[in-house]
Amino acid sequence: MRLVLVGPPGSGKGTQARRLAERLGLTYIGTGDMLREAIAQGSERGRRVADLIKQGLLVPDAEVNALIAELFQGPQRPRCFVTDGYPRTRAQAEAFDQLLARLGLPLDAVINLTIPDEEVVRRIAGRRCCTNSACGICYNIYFQPPRQPGVCDKCGSPLAQRDDDREETVRRRLQEFHKTTDALLEHYRQQGLVRDVSAVDHVETIYANILQAARPPDGHQAACPPDGHSPQAS
Ligand SMILES: [Zn+2]
Repeated sequence: MRLVLVGPPGSGKGTQARRLAERLGLTYIGTGDMLREAIAQGSERGRRVADLIKQGLLVPDAEVNALIAELFQGPQRPRCFVTDGYPRTRAQAEAFDQLLARLGLPLDAVINLTIPDEEVVRRIAGRRCCTNSACGICYNIYFQPPRQPGVCDKCGSPLAQRDDDREETVRRRLQEFHKTTDALLEHYRQQGLVRDVSAVDHVETIYANILQAARPPDGHQAACPPDGHSPQAS
């Protein structure tokens, strides 16, 4: 199976992508991880993108596209994969289309994890994490509150909200997400690849719904069937 996962921050996209990779034997392609690795290795690209990321700026399409192209042209070329965070823009999707067409690896589906903005805000802005770095447990004041407000159940240290989790930051990220993602989804909708899956559900239910949505129409063999695994039969 070859899947692209699209979803806003807080949609659980990363969790689902890793789960799909693990259970179906797909290669997990996360550009966030790949960029962090490039920075850690001190490669030329790593040095170029490190400052951008530190300032909270987006990495240019060309850098991300080149990173992906290298992966697919290298010895570790993935055949079955799930992507998390790529392509992020329409320009990235067009480059990815060309790369996959050259390699004869068409996508099976683009899974669009849908979630209302207000739910994302509750999930992220509601987070309160333990300030004791040796503990670090995070709670959510709406979904999983600590027994005593502002105090860690486990170690008794004060809880705090991270800067990245502030409501205004979350709303700004959501705005940016919608701005670029509308065009990205439109691009894939024209190819008939988009499957909308609600991200407001139990994590295992979402997983099952993704598998169901990604399944090719009857009579068509999946372009890249998972080896040694069979998706949940129905
Ligand atoms: Zn704690």
